[in-house]
Amino acid sequence: MKQHGRILKVYNSVLHVAAEDAVILCKLRGRIKKGRSDTEILPGDIVVLDRISPKEGVIEHVEQRSNLLQRPRVANLTQIVITVAAASPDPHPLVVSRFLVLAECSGAARIVLCINKMDLYRGDSEHFLAEYEAAGYPVLRVSAECGTGLDDLRRRLAGEITVFAGPSGAGKSSLLNALDPSLALVTGAVSEKIGRGRHTTRRAELLPFMNGYVVDTPGFTQQELTEISQEKLTACFSEFSKYGGCRFAPCSHSHEPGCAVKAAAAAGEISRERYDAYIALLDEIRSKKK
Ligand code: GDP
Ligand code: ZN
Repeated sequence: MKQHGRILKVYNSVLHVAAEDAVILCKLRGRIKKGRSDTEILPGDIVVLDRISPKEGVIEHVEQRSNLLQRPRVANLTQIVITVAAASPDPHPLVVSRFLVLAECSGAARIVLCINKMDLYRGDSEHFLAEYEAAGYPVLRVSAECGTGLDDLRRRLAGEITVFAGPSGAGKSSLLNALDPSLALVTGAVSEKIGRGRHTTRRAELLPFMNGYVVDTPGFTQQELTEISQEKLTACFSEFSKYGGCRFAPCSHSHEPGCAVKAAAAAGEISRERYDAYIALLDEIRSKKK
C-alpha cells in the first residue's frame, strides 16, 4: 500500500515517518539509496512509502524540498520563531536584527519575533521593539514563567513546521516546556551536561504539535552571516523600501549622498537602533568580501 508521509527523525538508519494513522519505521529502497548517495533524507522531508506491515515500510520516493535549513538540518520548514528576552539578558538591537536576517535567509515563509520574559520587562526597549512590528514582523510578547501570551504562540504554531532560534538564555526551551512538557528543547546547558561539545551537530527531530511540528533543536545559534549579498541584506530590512527616492540606484543606504533611508533614520522615522544594526551588518559583509 503506497502512502505519503513526513520524516520525523532518522535514527540508526531507520526513518521514522508520520503517515496518516501511525508512525512507520522505514528503510530506504536500495535504488533511492544509490541514486541519492550525495543527499541524505532529513527530518521534514515528504516521502512516498510502501507500507509492508502496520508498523513498517519502505521509502520509494522523496519529494522535492521547498527549503533546507543547515542548522539544524531540517527540510521544508515553514516558520522560524526568533526568541529574545525582554530583559535578562536585555535585548540587543544588533542581535535581534542579525537573527531576523538569518531567518530571512532560511527559506521559511513566516518569521515571528517572540519577546519572552515579559514578566521582567521594564518598558525601556519599546522604541526599538516596536520597530520590528513596523517592519512587518508579527511580534508576540510572552512569558514562559507566567504563561502570558502562550495561547497566541500556540495559535502561531498550528499547522506550521517551526524552528525556534535566538540567543541562548532567551528562554526557547522554557517556552516549549511551558507550551507542552513533551516538547522540551535540548538547551545549551543540558547538552553540555551530557557531554556534547558545543559545536557537535545534533540530529534534529520533528515533534508533532497543533497539527504541525516543532523542531526539538534550536536553529542557527552560530551567528555568522555567510554567503549573503549586500542586496539581500538590504532586502531583509524591508521597511527601508518605503523610503523611495534615494539619489542613487541601487543605494546601499550607507555612504551615498541624497539617501532617503539615511534621512529617515536621521529624522527618527526609522529607529537609530535598527539603522545602526543595518550598517553594522553591512560592514560585516563588506569586510568578509575583502
Ligand atoms: P534557552 O537557552 O533559550 O533555551 O533558554 P532557557 O529556556 O534555558 O532559559 C534561560 C533562563 O531564563 C532559565 O533560567 C529560565 O528559567 C529563564 N526563563 C525562561 N523563560 C522565562 C520567563 O518567561 N521569565 C523569567 N523571569 N525567566 C525565564
Ligand atoms: Zn539610500
